[in-house]
Amino acid sequence: MRRPFVAGNWKMNGDRASIEALVDGIKAGLGTVKRAEIAVCPPYVYVPQVRALVEGTAIHLGAQDLSDQDAGAYTGEVAGPMLADVGCQYVIVGHSERRNIRGESDELTAAKFAAARRAGLTPILCVGELLAEREQGITEQVVARQLDAVIDSQGIQALADAVIAYEPVWAIGTGRTATPEQAQEVHAFIRARLRAADQAIGDDIRILYGGSVKGSNAAELFQMEDIDGGLIGGASLKADEFLAICRAPDS
Ligand code: PEP
Repeated sequence: MRRPFVAGNWKMNGDRASIEALVDGIKAGLGTVKRAEIAVCPPYVYVPQVRALVEGTAIHLGAQDLSDQDAGAYTGEVAGPMLADVGCQYVIVGHSERRNIRGESDELTAAKFAAARRAGLTPILCVGELLAEREQGITEQVVARQLDAVIDSQGIQALADAVIAYEPVWAIGTGRTATPEQAQEVHAFIRARLRAADQAIGDDIRILYGGSVKGSNAAELFQMEDIDGGLIGGASLKADEFLAICRAPDS
């Protein structure tokens, strides 16, 4: 039985005051959430602040990215062991904003995934197609290529207990959500591909949907067979909206 998981990706938003208010708001409503595991991924510099604020609560901590290197002369980068040291359990890897705005390749994403594993962090591996790719009918090919970059370089066992987030790029921050059926189709494809490589890993892995999830559409998405929760951008910056999404698996 896969436990639903809802993770907030705060991206490059917030300051000390607004982050404290946001975490306080989420904490105040935690008692209303029954089933979902919850994580938040603040910008790096606020991770220690958020760690202190969530101490002793059921909120887990994640980061939004990491270096593919573990230490050394890599100006501006943050290594997996550093994230583990400041209390991160999760790290987002291969978000479409890294892939498409910063030009990060499947190979670099796979190297970051390996770095997360070396540091004992649980990677949330993002995959998803561009609008043009969906229109060309190559969604499955794109997602398979992104998954295979990790599987071919590290073996299927590297995905054991990891998290995958299917995030169609055309649905991120656009207000345009995939229909539950569109999302389920790709989630089922991902699970089948992983099951073909290792039945138990495919059965157990949590596959989140991301792309304009809100309190009002989360329940219909999360009720689909292969959708195990969400990776939430914009709506994770509002405590009430984020909590409504966290409660969606209870309905
Ligand atoms: C995201 O950035 O991972 C995301 C899903 O963003 P949004 O919810 O704002 O579409």
